[in-house]
Amino acid sequence: MRQRRLLVSAAPLAVLLSGCTYVLQPPARYDYPFPGTLEVRSVEQMQAAELCRFPHRVPWRAGVGCAIIEEDRCLILLTDKATAEVLRHEIAHCNGWTGEHED
Ligand SMILES: [Zn+2]
Repeated sequence: MRQRRLLVSAAPLAVLLSGCTYVLQPPARYDYPFPGTLEVRSVEQMQAAELCRFPHRVPWRAGVGCAIIEEDRCLILLTDKATAEVLRHEIAHCNGWTGEHED
């Protein structure tokens, strides 16, 4: 429990914060299990909007998840609309795929 609080409070310092609004298949070089400490949490959409800070120009309700990365830790927040494909996508962000979704 203590670790969770630390991770969430560290969110503003995250190296990468991405709000993903649709599911792209990650490039193969980022598509592997995250080697560090991975935590996946289910959150309400309002909570996701707050914690993931989805860009204002994108309706937050379109977001289904995000990845908050800090060094060798990755916290993935998923709403109830997230699928296994979304999880795979977010894990790729944990592995260094940026929010630009480059190939
Ligand atoms: Zn993404």
